[in-house]
Amino acid sequence: MAMENSPQFNTGEKPGNGIYQCRFCGKFAIIKSPDEVLPDCPKCKKPTTYFKKT
Ligand SMILES: [Zn+2]
Repeated sequence: MAMENSPQFNTGEKPGNGIYQCRFCGKFAIIKSPDEVLPDCPKCKKPTTYFKKT
C-alpha cells in the first residue's frame, strides 16, 4: 500500500507546512506554519500518527 511509504509524524511534532492524514481514521490535519504542532486527531480525540500527504 503506497500510503505506508509516506513519511510519518506523531502528535506533538512540528513537521512543517503540509497536509497530514490520521493513520487510524483518515481525518486530515492542516499545518500552516513551521511553529505549528500536530494536534491530537480531532476525530479519534487522542494522540495519533499522521501520514504526510504530498
Ligand atoms: Zn484519527
